[in-house]
Amino acid sequence: MSDSIAQAITDVSQRIRAAEAASARPAGSVRLLAVSKTFPASAVQAAYAAGQRAFGENYVQELQAKAAALAGLDIEWHFIGPLQSNKTRIVAENAHWVHSIERLKIAQRLSEQRPAQLPPLQVCIQVNVSGEDSKSGCTPAEALALAHAVAALPNLQLRGLMCIPEPTTDMQKLAGQFALLRQVQDELREDGLALDTVSMGMSSDMAQAIAAGSTMVRVGTAIFGARHYPT
Ligand SMILES: *Cc1c(COP(=O)(O)O)cnc(C)c1O
Repeated sequence: MSDSIAQAITDVSQRIRAAEAASARPAGSVRLLAVSKTFPASAVQAAYAAGQRAFGENYVQELQAKAAALAGLDIEWHFIGPLQSNKTRIVAENAHWVHSIERLKIAQRLSEQRPAQLPPLQVCIQVNVSGEDSKSGCTPAEALALAHAVAALPNLQLRGLMCIPEPTTDMQKLAGQFALLRQVQDELREDGLALDTVSMGMSSDMAQAIAAGSTMVRVGTAIFGARHYPT
C-alpha cells in the first residue's frame, strides 16, 4: 500500500506542476491537500513518509481519532466537511485549517473555542458556486459581509475561499463555477481583505481548477484510491 500511495503522490504532484506550467503560473504556487477521509491512519502515515504534510478530513470524529493516533508527526490537519455547532470544539482543538465556514455562528464558536496556546485557526469560507439547493456554502452575494465578519474574529485567520462545484462532465459549466469563486475572491481582495487561498479542484478536475486560479487542490481518490463507506 505505501509504495502505491507514494507513487500516486508523485504522479499527482507532476500533474499539478504540469497544470501550473500550462497556465503560466509559478511552479509551487498550488499546494496539494491529501484528502484521507475513510482511510486509516496507516495510509496517512504512508503519505507522510512520502513527504506529504497537509491532510484533509470531512468527519469530526475521524479527524479527532487520526490526530490523536498520529500526534507525534508534524501533520497539518484541514477540516473540509460540513460542520455543526455541537462539533466545533473538537475541530477548534485539533485542526490547523477549516475550509468549510458557511455561517458566522460556526466561525464565532471556532474562535471562542480555539485553545489560547495554539496559533489562529486558518479558515476559508465555502461558497456555493453552483446554486444547487443541496450544496453547502454561502451565496456569492453573502460572501463579502461574511468574510469581513470572520476576518474580525480574534482567533481565526481568514485565508480565502473554497468551493465544491456541481458534479458535471460539462467542462464549460465547471470552468464557469471555478471562475465565479475566483471572481468573488478578487472582489474581497479589492475590498481590502488580504487573502491568499483559493481552495478548489479535486481528483477529477484539478487541472481545470488550477487553470482557473486554484492555490490548493484537495485530492483523495487519486492518492488513496476509491473510498468505501460503511453501509
Ligand atoms: C472527499 C472530498 C475531496 C476529495 O475528493 P476526490 O474526488 O476523492 O479527490 C475534496 N474536497 C472535499 C470537500 C471532499 O469532501
